[in-house]
Amino acid sequence: MKAIRVHQFGGPEVLKLEEIATPKPEAGQVLVRVRAAGVNPYDTYMRAGTYAIKPHLPYTPGSDAAGTIEAVGSGVTKVKTGDRVYTAQTLTGAYAEYALALEDQVHRLPQNISFEQGAGVWVPYGTAYHALHHFAKARAGETVLVHGASGGVGTASLQIARAMGLTVFCTAGTDKGLDLVKREGAHQALNHTKAGYQDEIMKGSGGRGVDVILEMLANVNLGGDLKMLALHGRVVVIGSRGDATITPRDIMSRRASVLAFTLWAAQPAEIAEIHAGLIAGLENGTLRPVVGKQLPLAEAARAHKEILEPGAAGKIVLVH
Ligand code: NAP
Repeated sequence: MKAIRVHQFGGPEVLKLEEIATPKPEAGQVLVRVRAAGVNPYDTYMRAGTYAIKPHLPYTPGSDAAGTIEAVGSGVTKVKTGDRVYTAQTLTGAYAEYALALEDQVHRLPQNISFEQGAGVWVPYGTAYHALHHFAKARAGETVLVHGASGGVGTASLQIARAMGLTVFCTAGTDKGLDLVKREGAHQALNHTKAGYQDEIMKGSGGRGVDVILEMLANVNLGGDLKMLALHGRVVVIGSRGDATITPRDIMSRRASVLAFTLWAAQPAEIAEIHAGLIAGLENGTLRPVVGKQLPLAEAARAHKEILEPGAAGKIVLVH
């Protein structure tokens, strides 16, 4: 089978398309015929060798795939050959024609969701669900700022927040991103590259501030976020690429909280809840993964460059 392989940590150019043996499922494992693989920012940190989790070399990147079950090992009861699935991690990597996974790592992909969309489910929607339900504990009627709403996690957060009955403020850095978040239901969309957008958010909230902020770039925004919070407000740090300076009194005076997590540490009961919630939302149409760009598997290096550039508009997926 064809697979992207990384033999040494480094820049996008270390992603090589190679021919390797197709794995065979053992007991409790399944083989997925991958139709699309989602590209996530952490795939690039891992490839660079700068992430907390360092895979053994050589390896195939990617945790998010969608496709059909090609074969099952003994004892597998959850799925059968031909079933449509999305993966939440795999054993052998998603950037490949086939991926071996544990039975527990595959989940039913509803008929109304394409494989390209399915490749954008686990990390983006799992993160958004975890942030809103398990960390922010957001409730209908509250206000949320999705700070960086044009990308994978942002569009997922916007859709989940709308389905939960929240008032949703969104930011993006380009007109394309702003159009996207308005189309997906943002009550108010602001450009995070324009000075003074925080004042617009305060004005939009009637001066009281927002209850919840989902933060995609905490190193740039955390200090300012704390000044936009309402009493008992919560910031959930989802993404950060460096250090931040904050004024602790902004937290004290608002009785506020700063929360943070990595999806990898989610507990089994939380993970089960996440998939149940996501599959229901995908089926009833409230969750609609936005595929911004499809690239051939062979262009994984281009995808790794573009995912880190400004101007996000939904997910980048690799197809073959
Ligand atoms: P993505 O698809 O590349 O989107 C990045 C988003 O960040 C875009 O909406 C982008 O907006 C926005 N952004 C850029 N500059 C910003 C600024 N100054 N202020 C606010 N937002 C800004 O990435 P993603 O998959 O959504 O992931 C977002 C972040 O969360 C990444 O850092 C990722 O590593 C992290 N993450 C963490 C977890 C976890 O477990 N904690 C899980 C998933 C992702 P424009 O391009 O429109 O400017």
